[in-house]
Amino acid sequence: MQKQNSKKKGFKSALFIARTAFKAQGPTGVELSGIIAELSGSVIMKDYPELKEEELGEIYLVDGQKAVLSSMSLHAQKYAAKKLATYGVHLLMDTFVEDFDGESVQLSNGKSIDTKNLIWAAGVQAKVFEGFYPDSFGLGKRLKTDPFNKVYFADNIYALGDCALIAGDENYPNGHPQVAQPAIQQAKNLADNLLKKQEVWKAFGYKDKGSLAIIGRNKAVLDFPNQKYAMSGFLSWLIWIFVHIMGLVNFKSKLRALYNWLGYYIYKDQSFRMIIKPNSRKK
Ligand SMILES: Cc1cc2nc3c(=O)[nH]c(=O)nc-3n(C[C@H](O)[C@H](O)[C@H](O)COP(=O)(O)OP(=O)(O)OC[C@H]3O[C@@H](n4cnc5c(N)ncnc54)[C@H](O)[C@@H]3O)c2cc1C
Repeated sequence: MQKQNSKKKGFKSALFIARTAFKAQGPTGVELSGIIAELSGSVIMKDYPELKEEELGEIYLVDGQKAVLSSMSLHAQKYAAKKLATYGVHLLMDTFVEDFDGESVQLSNGKSIDTKNLIWAAGVQAKVFEGFYPDSFGLGKRLKTDPFNKVYFADNIYALGDCALIAGDENYPNGHPQVAQPAIQQAKNLADNLLKKQEVWKAFGYKDKGSLAIIGRNKAVLDFPNQKYAMSGFLSWLIWIFVHIMGLVNFKSKLRALYNWLGYYIYKDQSFRMIIKPNSRKK
């Protein structure tokens, strides 16, 4: 087995798996690898001054797709890849993780990476319940439903959100993205149908409100609905903050999050963390 070119290794190396065979839509691996790369250059260096820069280890982002953020626009993909590369994140695209034994990760290209740290961000798989016909489950074990969220081969059982694979939307033949908006919109549509707010039941239609992904400080990508327009950089990052703060439940928590984030932004630090060092006290 050929080793991946990895000069620095050991407990500090980190590996992020972004996606596998499922055509996952989430940018979790991209966001995590960018933010941890940024942390290692600031907070970790500050907390562990004894560490030399070359001892910090390396970050690999392994992705079964040909590009990062493959569900987003080409602009977003290129921007994210470029920024991650400037952070020093190694991008291994079109590569699958085959095995991990706690010491090294085996890749589908025949290479391996020595690491004790593996973060899996390859998406979710819905829970399989007994009592459903095996044919009720589709890709990613999501429950296949009709356009009204009613599970196939079942009476009076509805599936919504991440666990639902809704038929009839030609734009999403492999299911809607497993993000909050489809779940919210499906819940509202089904509630309206059950409460008989319209004369005939309305089929679910997903309204794409756009996508956002954060890569690091001042760096984010934004696709407008249906990818008609894409942007990146500081303004997208501000919009990411605004959207996530507005999603919080009440004014007090919105204000608290904004205040905390402003502090982190200015001081590039967090007040709460766990610092683990070897115990030097004599027994
Ligand atoms: C790390 C991460 C980051 C994400 N970031 C974003 C983001 O930035 N933007 C975005 O739009 N989406 C994001 N998502 C995706 C988003 O969280 C989901 O798409 C969304 O929560 C789906 O809603 P849901 O109601 O289908 O499922 P969930 O929110 O997962 O709710 C399912 C609920 O069912 C409960 N449950 C499970 N099993 C049982 C059981 N047997 N009995 C009773 N209850 C049960 C669970 O505890 C949970 O509360 C992220 C997801 C992850 C994991």
